[in-house]
Amino acid sequence: MNDPVRGNRKGNMTEVFTGCLKCNKGVLLPLSDYGRDGAPIRYKAWVCNNPDCGFNIRIDNGEISLGKELVQSTK
Ligand SMILES: [Zn+2]
Repeated sequence: MNDPVRGNRKGNMTEVFTGCLKCNKGVLLPLSDYGRDGAPIRYKAWVCNNPDCGFNIRIDNGEISLGKELVQSTK
């Protein structure tokens, strides 16, 4: 029985990552966080795994913010 939602499985990857639309090379890795009450927030932010790209998107309080460039703190 076909399952169109899951699509093709490549190798042993059980999760399907979204390809990065900026560099078309990396994939967006989901990052999870925990809320103040300790409730897990799944997929709060997505970050491209291509170091030359650095594209990231995050969700705060239901608002989506696009980070075109990663901000590095200078200490
Ligand atoms: Zn990218």
